[in-house]
Amino acid sequence: MAATDIVGDRLDAMLSRLKLTAIRDSLDTLLDEAGRADLNARETLALLLEREIARKDQRRIEMAMGLARFPFARDIAGFEFAAQPSIDPKQIRDLAACRWIAGGENVLLLGPPGVGKTHLAVALGREAIVAGYGVVFVSAAAITAQLAKAHEAGQLEDKLNSLAKPKLLIIDELGYLPFDPNAAHLFFQLVSRRYERGAILITSNRSVGEWGQVFGDAVVATAILDRLLHHAVVMTIRGDSYRLKEKRRAGLLQKAGATDPQLEKIK
Ligand code: ADP
Ligand code: MG
Repeated sequence: MAATDIVGDRLDAMLSRLKLTAIRDSLDTLLDEAGRADLNARETLALLLEREIARKDQRRIEMAMGLARFPFARDIAGFEFAAQPSIDPKQIRDLAACRWIAGGENVLLLGPPGVGKTHLAVALGREAIVAGYGVVFVSAAAITAQLAKAHEAGQLEDKLNSLAKPKLLIIDELGYLPFDPNAAHLFFQLVSRRYERGAILITSNRSVGEWGQVFGDAVVATAILDRLLHHAVVMTIRGDSYRLKEKRRAGLLQKAGATDPQLEKIK
C-alpha cells in the first residue's frame, strides 16, 4: 500500500472518530479548493472547520424543523409585505431577531382567516430554530386535546413539563373552536407554567376582547390574558384573505361576494 493511502486511511479513521464527517466525506475536494486558492496551513484548517460547522448547523436545523412539526414550510422572505399594509415590516424583522424568545415574552397574531397569521408564525418559528431555540408548533385544538388526555390519565404534570421545554411554543388557531371549561383551566395551567420562562406565539381569529367567549369563562380568560399580555407584542392584521386576493389577481374570481363555489367554500 502506498504511503499516501496509509495516511488517507488514518485520516479517514480519525475524522470519523471525531465525527468530522463533512471534512471526511469531501477531504480531497476541500484540499483541492485550498490548493487552488493558495491557502496556507492555518487558512486551510479554517476552511475545513467552517465547512464542518456549516454542515452541522444545517443538520441541526433540519432536525429541529422536523421536531417543530410545522404544518407547511414558510419563511419571512416569502411574505409579501406589500399585500398586507396593516403589517409593519420593521416589526416583523425585529421579531425575527428573536430577542423576545430569549426573554420568554409572547406574541399574539390576531386577524381574520387568510391574512398570513400562520405563515408569519411558521416563519418566526423558523428564525427561532436558526437562532438555536427549540420550537414546537401545535394547533389550539390539538394542545387542548393533549392536555385533557394527560389530565384524565393522571399525567398532567408530565405533559405540562414537556410543553414547558421548547423555548418557543406556537399555538395556532385559538378561537376557531370554543373551549370547554375544563380545557380553559388546563390552558391556564400551561400559560402559568411557561410564564416568563418560555415564549408563546398564539394566532387567533378572535380579538382579545372576545377571549372570554372563546374560553367559555371570563375569569379564566382574564387570568390567562393577564399572564400572556404582561410581556407581549400584539399584532392585529387586517384586510382580505391573501388566498382570495391571489385568485382574484389570477382572474379566477371577478370580485368578492361573487357566487363562486370556491369562494363559498372558503367563506
Ligand atoms: P391565516 O393563518 O391568517 O388564516 P395563512 O398564513 O394560512 O393565513 O395564509 C394563507 C395562505 O396565504 C398561506 O399559504 C400563506 O403562505 C399565504 N399568504 C398569506 N399572506 C401572505 C403574504 N402577505 N405574502 C405571501 N403569502 C401570504
Ligand atoms: Mg392560520
